[in-house]
Amino acid sequence: MVAKILIIEDEANIAQLIRLYLEQAGYSVLTAGDGVAGLELHAREHPDLVILDLMLPALDGMEVTRRIRAWASTPILMLTARNEEEDRIAGLELGADDYLVKPFSPREVVSRVKAILRRVAPVAPAGAQGNGGEMPNARDELRFPGLVITIPARRVEVNGQRVTLTVKEFDLLVTLASAPERVFSRESLLNQVWGYTYLGDGRTVDVHIGTLRKKIEAQPDAPQYIKTVWGVGYKFTLEDQR
Ligand code: CA
Repeated sequence: MVAKILIIEDEANIAQLIRLYLEQAGYSVLTAGDGVAGLELHAREHPDLVILDLMLPALDGMEVTRRIRAWASTPILMLTARNEEEDRIAGLELGADDYLVKPFSPREVVSRVKAILRRVAPVAPAGAQGNGGEMPNARDELRFPGLVITIPARRVEVNGQRVTLTVKEFDLLVTLASAPERVFSRESLLNQVWGYTYLGDGRTVDVHIGTLRKKIEAQPDAPQYIKTVWGVGYKFTLEDQR
């Protein structure tokens, strides 16, 4: 299956350039010139990933992100201008997975898209071969008091209730929870979860940890699962689980 990418960008020359590079890389590409058309295409075509410019006429990128996240976990790569730091953080908080600052090289877009899609590529189903496959493989499921993570299905339950995580929230949680008590630096989380190293932009990690805590922690300000290790990064702890 060829992955389908939706570009929502009002600057036609940028959209065309990205389209060209993505098509050369083997992706199927759709484009929309404003937020309304983008949402319509998203609903109709179910793309595998959305590249979304924040500054759009009619319906801006924030609102588009909010509306997509209301019903879908499609990965979103935001495009922002250099002076839109506040918007960038807000966009990540709304559930965008990653961002690129203009001007960027089209090659960089392709490598980001590849990195994001690599993370969401479906994993072979558990127990696909051998003895019935009824019991989940230990590595497919992470169980903690009040928290169950089923990795192949990318499913998370908190106290028996399913919660919907974005791609990066899920990947962060699995990375941390797969190695309880190990302290991860922001840089190593960027590397493992985003697939490359930013130039020291640990705020991306902080924002995603914040939105993840709101979804899985009973008290996000006093987390029982994901602890901040001051001056270093984060760890998944077993000590405070109740
Ligand atoms: Ca724009």
